[in-house]
Amino acid sequence: MSTLVPTIGLEVHCQIKTQTKMFCACPIRHGAEPNTAVCAVCLGHPGTLPVVNDEAVRLAVRAGLALSCTVHDRSIFARKHYFYPDLPKGYQISQFDQPLCTGGQIHVEHDGARHVYALERIHMEEDAGKLIHAGEHSLVDWNRGGTPLIEIVGKPDLHSAEAAAAWFKMMHQVMTHAGITVGNMEKGHFRCDANVSLAPEGGPLGVRVELKNINSFRFLAKAVRHEIARQTDVLASGERVVQSTRSWNGTDSVELRSKESAADYRYFPDPDLGPVPVSNDDRVDARAKLAAVPLDVWILDQYRDRLEVIQSKYSVNAADAMALLSVPELFSLFEAAVDAGGASASMNKWIRGPVARWRNESDGAPLKLQAEQLVALDEMVVSGALTRGLAREVLQELCAAGGDVKAIVTSRGLGRVENTEKVQQMAHEIVDNNPDAAARFRDGDARVLGFFMGQGMRAFGGRVDAGEVREALLKALSAPAKPV
Ligand code: ZN
Ligand code: MN
Repeated sequence: MSTLVPTIGLEVHCQIKTQTKMFCACPIRHGAEPNTAVCAVCLGHPGTLPVVNDEAVRLAVRAGLALSCTVHDRSIFARKHYFYPDLPKGYQISQFDQPLCTGGQIHVEHDGARHVYALERIHMEEDAGKLIHAGEHSLVDWNRGGTPLIEIVGKPDLHSAEAAAAWFKMMHQVMTHAGITVGNMEKGHFRCDANVSLAPEGGPLGVRVELKNINSFRFLAKAVRHEIARQTDVLASGERVVQSTRSWNGTDSVELRSKESAADYRYFPDPDLGPVPVSNDDRVDARAKLAAVPLDVWILDQYRDRLEVIQSKYSVNAADAMALLSVPELFSLFEAAVDAGGASASMNKWIRGPVARWRNESDGAPLKLQAEQLVALDEMVVSGALTRGLAREVLQELCAAGGDVKAIVTSRGLGRVENTEKVQQMAHEIVDNNPDAAARFRDGDARVLGFFMGQGMRAFGGRVDAGEVREALLKALSAPAKPV
């Protein structure tokens, strides 16, 4: 048998950063109570009509331009029919024969060389709901149903797992840099399906297997490598690869169903939605949000130099510099905070930690935190006026609503208790009130200290330095037990 060459094509589902859903005014809210972010439109009740979210279209146009696609003057929404409980309408609104964008390309580096990979198309669609499997029962949460997505379809031009992972990673960088997605992969903002086939070199493509919903770069490489090996074995044993859809569970793939073809979905133009117009002004506006150089090229050319500059300018390590740079919004906050007098090490810690976390969890809500306020917050922690734990709480409020740090601390009574005597007195009281636990501690069970710490921190509502509480507790515990 001649050498078999693997061919991989990727399709990315990318959640775009809007406040509301694709065709109704429901908010995008991960982690909300199931079925609370739904309405008659996204549930497909009779008599309701979808209305296109303009912001989603604007972002999709920007995505197309960022990837050098042809963005069409007119595209059509189509209904893709299939039955599944996460799809209350019985069809998904997507685009079929007239997508928003066609063509396009992405520059990717792997195996020591730069490659240009062609794209097939980008279309807009809505996400489905989610099934939650609980023992014998399955529950359905439709909150995610109707979330705006773009689907980016690459041409089957990739020939190794490494190439596929590099392509997927670059696509993620371009989409996050262009401000199109928050890009939280754990939450499924950015996930891909990989079509893998094997064929003799130069011949037509082999039968393909689709690996569904992969949401990590590492998983993608692993899953593709595994699938190439599986198909190699199948073909070596003289059997044929079955066209199918498989899901990757982290170590192995499992067949979900033998593959449908487009005809099975009975696509037809959605009669409730007119064509999506894109004007030259729309393109100019979208392009204004992008750099003059294609983002992928910019990332490949500038990234490394910038990383070095940032590392030396702010004395952060390579990993931190890369993480800061990968989210432009956080990077400008970091630069502004350092400019406003913040120490780069602690600004980096706040921003990469609690601020980044807030942003990941806020589903695209605007970050209201001002650089000056972050610096002020850090100063209060350094001076001891506010404990680190409470500073994190204040920071959540600043991220969501902005405001003045000192005013928030005063109005919520969060200022630190700086009364050593009071802390020591409290420590004694706690120890006296828990004689059994105290005895266990004195008998050598050091874990009990955790229990006492919890009591101590709670007694002051967290407004006290943990180190101070610990010291006071240890002192109280080392005092002779109170006779009963
Ligand atoms: Zn809705
Ligand atoms: Mn899709």
